[in-house]
Amino acid sequence: MNQHTVVLIPGDGIGPEVADAVRFVFDKAHAPVVWEEHLAGLSALDKGLDLLPEETLEAIHRHKIALKGPCTTPVGKGFSSINVALRKKLNLYAAVRPVRSLPGVKTRYDDVDLVIVRENTEGLYSGVENEVLPGVVMSMKVASETACLRIAHYAFRYATQRRRKKVTLFHKANIMKLTDGMMLRCAEKIHTEEYPNIEYEPLIIDAGCMKLVQDPSRFDVLLMENLYGDVVSDLAAGLVGGLGVVPGANIGDEGAVFEAVHGSAPDIAGKGIANPLALVMSAVMMLNHLGQTRHDDACKKSAVRIRDAYNKTLADGCGTRDLGGQLNTQSFAQAVADRLS
Ligand code: ATP
Repeated sequence: MNQHTVVLIPGDGIGPEVADAVRFVFDKAHAPVVWEEHLAGLSALDKGLDLLPEETLEAIHRHKIALKGPCTTPVGKGFSSINVALRKKLNLYAAVRPVRSLPGVKTRYDDVDLVIVRENTEGLYSGVENEVLPGVVMSMKVASETACLRIAHYAFRYATQRRRKKVTLFHKANIMKLTDGMMLRCAEKIHTEEYPNIEYEPLIIDAGCMKLVQDPSRFDVLLMENLYGDVVSDLAAGLVGGLGVVPGANIGDEGAVFEAVHGSAPDIAGKGIANPLALVMSAVMMLNHLGQTRHDDACKKSAVRIRDAYNKTLADGCGTRDLGGQLNTQSFAQAVADRLS
């Protein structure tokens, strides 16, 4: 069996705990992956390295694939986000976040099945800010036609390949006529010129959010710029059980980094109670990506086995505390391993 070397960045806070759980499940499943561990974030700083060490970037460039735990970003002060820097440096322009109802996870809805496609390199989320005068600060929202066309194209291509029916664009082009107006025009152009068979619906984001919480089943692929994608991802996570159950991928032309939607959760770090499922699910997305891009059926089979095992675990009522269950991080990983076919 072909073994694929994957860069593993455990990250900060709960990152190392949930990354250990992924390693455990993958070992038990004999998944065709060899981990090469590299540091980023506060854990790199603690070892006397840069926050985003050159050797970590170089390893991802070399292997073209990584699984990453969250890196802590200080709030309102301090260094800027390592997660954002990594996406920019590797030009991982598309964040893909599938949000689905899960068996055994009781929420208000049982029929959520949507995918958020978030532009990952521009917009206010880039954090380009400066102090104009004492007491006056400014944040820059940048949108380029190249990036808007690229992400719109990605979303429609994704919908076509996954046999999804509809792309909804969340925007605020009534107010941000230039930046969001650019995204709106680019999405319309890609739709009409290249993907007329996929249904397309532009929605102003505030009304879109109301519709999303009223009836998530009306959404399929959701396309949006960077900051909206950040906010709507957590909102959508709340529809299916929270941040412990939503995976993600950051995709570029030269590589891909898989990471959960959640952050480093400092409030529960070190307690061994974090839900590792979101990172396990991200790792399963990674196996499917390897299967697809490297034409390796063993990866796809491994992905199906692990997915079936965690679905069975949840359906059996075994969950971590965030899901109302009793299991800790390691016992949840063990419960998944016990259900591998
Ligand atoms: P960031 O700014 O990095 O996105 P955040 O502000 O969204 O981070 P998180 O670290 O994602 O914050 O945590 C938000 C809340 O969700 C916290 O109360 C945290 O404990 C909880 N949480 C996040 N991830 C998990 C997880 N895997 N298991 C259990 N609880 C989690």
